[in-house]
Amino acid sequence: MRKAEMKGYESRLLELSERLRATVDDLDDEIVGERASQGDLAHFGTHNADHDTEFLEVDEAAERNEVAMLNAVEAALARIGKGTFGVCEECGKPIARERLDAVPYAARCTACEQG
Ligand SMILES: [Zn+2]
Repeated sequence: MRKAEMKGYESRLLELSERLRATVDDLDDEIVGERASQGDLAHFGTHNADHDTEFLEVDEAAERNEVAMLNAVEAALARIGKGTFGVCEECGKPIARERLDAVPYAARCTACEQG
């Protein structure tokens, strides 16, 4: 892959990582707030507790997803640093350009991902 192309993916990845970081921060705040209010509610034994647990679980699952994506983005940025970006981690073949355009943090080619 040419340097200029890699730079293009790099700026997309950096943008993505900033956005993900902001989302994770927001979710963190929400989760902290929800945990705190849950503690309060448990104290009063309110019937809304189940409802709040649901919110908390949804946010926690969302945060796990965002963190996993952030890790993948950071790994991709590290590969750019090492010059191995765009190469499948599993089979060592180049990852299709269309795949990288859709998922710039993809670590494996379509075949290995499906395999
Ligand atoms: Zn592969």
